Amino acid sequence: METYPRVTPQGPERALATEAVHAGREDLADLGVHAVPLDLSTTYPSHDSRGEAARIDAFATTGERPDGPPVYGRLDNPTTARFETALARLEGTESAVAFASGMAALSACLLARSADGLRHVVAVRPLYGCSDHLLTAGLLGTEVTWTDPAGIADAIRPDTGLVMVETPANPTLAEVDLRAVAHSCGSVPLLADNTFATPVLQRPAGSGARIVLHSATKYLGGHGDVLGGVVACDEEFARRLRQVRFATGGVLHPLAGYLLLRGLSTLPVRVRAASATAAELAARLSADPRVSAVHYPRIGGAMIAFEVAGDPHAVIASVRLVTPAVSLGSVDSLIQHPASISHRIVGADDRRRGGISDRLLRMSVGLEDVEDLWRDLDAALDAATAGAALADGTARPAARVSAGGS
Ligand SMILES: *Cc1c(COP(=O)(O)O)cnc(C)c1O
Repeated sequence: METYPRVTPQGPERALATEAVHAGREDLADLGVHAVPLDLSTTYPSHDSRGEAARIDAFATTGERPDGPPVYGRLDNPTTARFETALARLEGTESAVAFASGMAALSACLLARSADGLRHVVAVRPLYGCSDHLLTAGLLGTEVTWTDPAGIADAIRPDTGLVMVETPANPTLAEVDLRAVAHSCGSVPLLADNTFATPVLQRPAGSGARIVLHSATKYLGGHGDVLGGVVACDEEFARRLRQVRFATGGVLHPLAGYLLLRGLSTLPVRVRAASATAAELAARLSADPRVSAVHYPRIGGAMIAFEVAGDPHAVIASVRLVTPAVSLGSVDSLIQHPASISHRIVGADDRRRGGISDRLLRMSVGLEDVEDLWRDLDAALDAATAGAALADGTARPAARVSAGGS
């Protein structure tokens, strides 16, 4: 029978690149296999129903992962547990809990706090469009106060269960100082969405974030073929999240857990390579008169946001190598227009308040050759500028570069 790899760091801390290929797989040699076993069981047979009852009671009261088989696939899964172990190790947290998607992961965090009567959330814009929508619409019975980082301490109330930030934020790549924000939170847990930076560039738990959220769909999976979400946190909160996951059912499919663990192996290499290309493209865009603003984070990364002087829709219509599609973090490059797609569900006024201009494009840089990507962007920018130049006959303004987003 397969056992659960526990998140107990052994010996001196190993480098991220080493953890990426070994964490969650330490027992494989003892099992006599090299590839990770994929357990697709929905149920687990046992002739000992008294023992099962005791294990169910233990889980119901503590949320602690059961010893031995999980009883039922909605409670836990050994393959997914390997991914959770590995991600926790990469983020430097005690535990991690995986979900069916990033939004299922965020929902579980909100429900876990609401269940304790803490229904109020303080949040900083911009956030990923659907996260903004979930909070604004109050679909889970939560109430949100939007503020900027300087206003967090004043916005906190006795029933505040979470403070939520994204850094670099989707889609503007605006950055917040996590350490300063964590300080403003006092005893209220800070939830940092680390989807864009990944643990390769930033480990928010080390800066005081108690809850680190990922849309695993993006860089962790890395190949555009898995939907998933994960929360890295201390074991106390993880137990609460497992109870919520069990009761609400937003579980990750074990095959997705397998693919996400496999994705983690190459995460450091992928993120570093794509970031180098993105930095070069950001520099070229910044020097380009067809582009009016470029946002590229101080910490780097493989995401670029830029505003075009011409028609952003023409850029989307004209790219040929870069795929015009929402989502990000894949091995191939994607580009999209946030006001039309990823942040469409956010009201126009709220988009503007979050610094999301109608001219903004968001590009996820993949692993293609930088010159091939530039040729594609160059042609698309020509197409976008041609229409605008015909319309007003004026020269394009010089690009404004803003490190860290604005
Ligand atoms: C995509 C995304 C999410 C939502 O994740 P899904 O896996 O699509 O549910 C949350 N946060 C950020 C920053 C994202 O980019």
